[in-house]
Amino acid sequence: MAVGRLLHGRQQVKTCPKCKINKSRAEFAVNPNQGDGLNSWCKLCINFQNSVPCECGRGRKSKTSKKCWDCYTVGMPGRLQGTEQLAALLSRTDRDKNQGCWLWTGALDSGGYASFTETKLGQKKAMVRIHRRVAELASGPIPAGYQVHHKCAIRRCINPDHLERTDARSNIGEMLARNAFLTRISLLEDALRELDPRHPALPDAA
Ligand SMILES: [Zn+2]
Ligand SMILES: [Zn+2]
Ligand SMILES: [Zn+2]
Repeated sequence: MAVGRLLHGRQQVKTCPKCKINKSRAEFAVNPNQGDGLNSWCKLCINFQNSVPCECGRGRKSKTSKKCWDCYTVGMPGRLQGTEQLAALLSRTDRDKNQGCWLWTGALDSGGYASFTETKLGQKKAMVRIHRRVAELASGPIPAGYQVHHKCAIRRCINPDHLERTDARSNIGEMLARNAFLTRISLLEDALRELDPRHPALPDAA
């Protein structure tokens, strides 16, 4: 018995009899009453079994929200369309008084862009970059090969006036590189002006 337990304990993978998927030991809850020290079913299958169907009949309730995903997301931007969606997105921003940026207060994606989860009823969820969606909703479809870039260079800004469509050649990377270059030139000019105010390379040299 002890030997059997030891052998089982060494196995790194175990098949869940419910979902029939090979899973690592970490995906099963500890249960000292079982021969291998783990529950027979995986955690996911046990959670699903314990979760309660939602009254709407479309899914099962999440433990945290006590609603199914479809009910939980009612009224969220991802469930709205057209001008309603645009208004809902733009209302979830902090308005910056200096530069006029409308800063998204919700989730950002790994690139630092404002993003939200699109949840059309009964369909797969999809992550959407909000500045692209806002540009589309505010001024029509974005042609293939075009990007939407931020004139303000603030990625989480979704102010339609700060968004500009450009083709791939004039993208934000180039714009930022050019700005950095211009800043560098003006710093060098300032340094040169201190050393030699009449240097002919200076734009305002007499
Ligand atoms: Zn399972
Ligand atoms: Zn529901
Ligand atoms: Zn901005």
